[in-house]
Amino acid sequence: MSEKRIALVTGANKGIGFETARMLGREGMTVLVGARAAERGEPAAGVLADEGIDARFVQLDVTDEESVRAAAKWVEAEFGRLDVLVNNAGIMPPESSVSPSEVPIAALRATYETNVFGVVTVTNAFLPLLRRADAARIVNVSSELGSLTLLSDPESAFYPFNLLAYNSSKSALNGVTLAYAKELADTGIKVNAANPGYTATDINMHSGPQTVEEGAGYVVPLALLPEDGPSGGFFTGTEPLPW
Ligand code: NDP
Repeated sequence: MSEKRIALVTGANKGIGFETARMLGREGMTVLVGARAAERGEPAAGVLADEGIDARFVQLDVTDEESVRAAAKWVEAEFGRLDVLVNNAGIMPPESSVSPSEVPIAALRATYETNVFGVVTVTNAFLPLLRRADAARIVNVSSELGSLTLLSDPESAFYPFNLLAYNSSKSALNGVTLAYAKELADTGIKVNAANPGYTATDINMHSGPQTVEEGAGYVVPLALLPEDGPSGGFFTGTEPLPW
């Protein structure tokens, strides 16, 4: 078995996921660049490899159970275990960013397929491999827009962002995070939700004020948590966020 820690990041061909993979690679991990399309994932892994990072592309569409199962089988055959899983892949379909009463149900379903059900599919497929690691970490990339506390507080800067599909999918993801943390409480596996903060990427047409380095910088600490670190929490980096 490989001595190096093995990290899988979903949706790692660009944006926060790509930068997270780069940072974990710089920590000395073997990074598995999960991407649904080979034509985007292979060059992304190539960029990291050119920087001296031990990066490999793995085809993985979080909404396609077959591709997730095949990816888990490949990781098992290559490495025998997984140390870090970053469930980063996420979408905000433009047609879902309308008033709640106008949301096309198909856009709501698509959002949940990726942001919620995809995370469960990937986590369940890789849990047997995560259980074989010494102290595995699962990081679910959520959002402050999933915080019901912030969304319901008229004083909060997030109160006006009433995006039914995206926000509620991230609230659901927070619930998913807590459920896994409870199931895995007596293992060495820690499960947390990460808020990267408003970051300039394709998901928001680069409107966010933060760089991807800053955004990923709030995700990575949860993948590197020490043994006495938290599980079942919601954080921006190491700063707790209200559910
Ligand atoms: P990007 O749109 O840049 O990246 C999203 C990534 O997810 C892409 O690699 C995309 O692949 C991938 N993806 C989408 N659907 C699937 C799928 N079915 N299977 C596998 N991969 C998929 O956005 P960000 O980097 O900003 O988003 C990363 C995460 O951060 C998301 O979960 C997002 O919700 C979260 N987030 C982002 C914030 C921000 O301000 N940017 C703030 C808070 C949270 P492809 O290239 O093939 O589309």
